[in-house]
Amino acid sequence: NADAAMYQAKAQGRGNYQFYSEEMNARTLDRLTLESGLRHAIERGELQLMYQPQIDLASGAVIGAEALLRWRQGGGQLVMPDAFIAIAEETGLIVPIGEWVLRTACAQHVAWQRAGLPELRVAVNLSARQFRQPGMDAMVARVLAETGCHASALELEITESVLMDRPDSAAQTLQRLSEMGVLLAIDDFGTGYSSLSYLKRFPINALKIDRSFVRDIPADADDSAIAGAVIALAHSMGLTVVAEGVETPQQRDFLRQLHCDQAQGYLFSEPVSAATLAGMLRRA
Ligand code: C2E
Ligand code: MG
Ligand code: MG
Ligand code: MG
Repeated sequence: NADAAMYQAKAQGRGNYQFYSEEMNARTLDRLTLESGLRHAIERGELQLMYQPQIDLASGAVIGAEALLRWRQGGGQLVMPDAFIAIAEETGLIVPIGEWVLRTACAQHVAWQRAGLPELRVAVNLSARQFRQPGMDAMVARVLAETGCHASALELEITESVLMDRPDSAAQTLQRLSEMGVLLAIDDFGTGYSSLSYLKRFPINALKIDRSFVRDIPADADDSAIAGAVIALAHSMGLTVVAEGVETPQQRDFLRQLHCDQAQGYLFSEPVSAATLAGMLRRA
């Protein structure tokens, strides 16, 4: 009856209220814990890079690897970047963390070369805050010099939003990086403003098609058409195209038919440690 229903709703409402406030406390606590932990993560040696191979679709060869950050907390718990990159951005900790990532990836490239592995480019993600940091291009030059990594072996990944926000200063920074010989890629392409013609004003080498457009190809006609159009237009502008999140042979074959240049995804390999990747390449 009505009274019983009312009573139930109230009880549920109260329960929900308590549930949400507890959840919020847990989140605030998480945030504080993460933030203070992150402050010490570099000095405690808790940061680690995994590398995901990038495959040339025509030959099947591994031609590069994207460095992906992991945080192994004191207690052994593994924290994924989606759980801490935003906090690192907000607090500015991304600046020292980003420099550590770049240095580690460049040093790893040099170590792979010295170990006699085939030429393997490294791709490093840059966050917006990092990209806008004054002197960012000088920092890249310094890290390249200190590690002995060739500029042409490094690809920096930025997102469309970085370009759209302050296009003029972004263009200048990209120009300086490009003149150094560093390769530049747009990550998660298609999730932002996505104007290919706009991209002409930036010295970009590659587009990475976001995995949300790759997931349902070839079955989804719209996504298949989008992927085909992006690849054709990018090629007409002289850009290399990398497909993200390739998980099935059907996706790979379809992308190959569309003349997509490179691919990355669980079909080929998950992100693995530097040693595991070296082992994979030695066996190949
Ligand atoms: P991203 O740069 O787009 O990296 C690709 C993400 O997709 C990675 O997640 C990767 O593990 C995942 N992935 C790769 N292949 C597949 C697949 O076949 N299927 C699916 N479902 N996922 C796949 P991860 O490592 O968790 O990184 C997430 C995001 O965190 C990255 O997206 C990047 O934006 C950011 N990130 C990672 N490392 C760094 C870093 O060193 N600095 C900065 N600023 N951001 C980073
Ligand atoms: Mg990336
Ligand atoms: Mg991406
Ligand atoms: Mg992404």
